[in-house]
Amino acid sequence: LTTEVVDEEHKTLDQLKMRSEHDGLTGLYNRAAGVALIEDLLRKESGILALFDCDKFKLINDSFGHLVGDKVLIVVAQTLQKVFEDQVVFRLGGDEFVCFLQQSFIDRKAEEGLNTIGIFKQLREELQKVDIPEMCGQCPSASFGVARSDKDHLIEFDELYKTADISLYQCKKYGRNDLHKM
Ligand code: GH3
Ligand code: MG
Repeated sequence: LTTEVVDEEHKTLDQLKMRSEHDGLTGLYNRAAGVALIEDLLRKESGILALFDCDKFKLINDSFGHLVGDKVLIVVAQTLQKVFEDQVVFRLGGDEFVCFLQQSFIDRKAEEGLNTIGIFKQLREELQKVDIPEMCGQCPSASFGVARSDKDHLIEFDELYKTADISLYQCKKYGRNDLHKM
């Protein structure tokens, strides 16, 4: 009986940890957990911090309803995870997501013949394949902003985020659904 109680307690603690670190809607890491993981990675490996913001998401909510908007967020999260594989991806809040592409991932993809722009293009292509019946053939898209990090010249997450946010703003300004510049 004691072993059973201890097992049950472990299970409850695991569930609590899971809930405290993950976003309830998409299942991705939440902001606090994602930032902590990336802060740690920034000290170990160079890479690219990428910020994603769904395009015209308010219009999706207004046209098709909030539940369809939620579906879009879930599909975007799944697509980010599919394309960025084992890299840290998290939901920053609302329709914004963050991913840190470690240099080892970028190098691995380069060996497979995909450069960094190619990785982001792959994401765009995957989003173009999304079919949410309620959206009558319309597929979601996202704009991107990026900031490079160098482990030997450490820049904290907040600073990188600001740079990526400026790059995202440019992307929104110049037509959305594309990389403004790498
Ligand atoms: P832009 O292309 O400039 O990004 O336009 P936008 O309409 O996407 O503007 P913005 O990114 O500012 O809008 C985000 C919207 O996301 C605002 C808010 O109503 C909606 N939102 C935030 N959280 C949720 C959520 O959990 N579910 C749904 N359905 N909507 C959400
Ligand atoms: Mg948006």
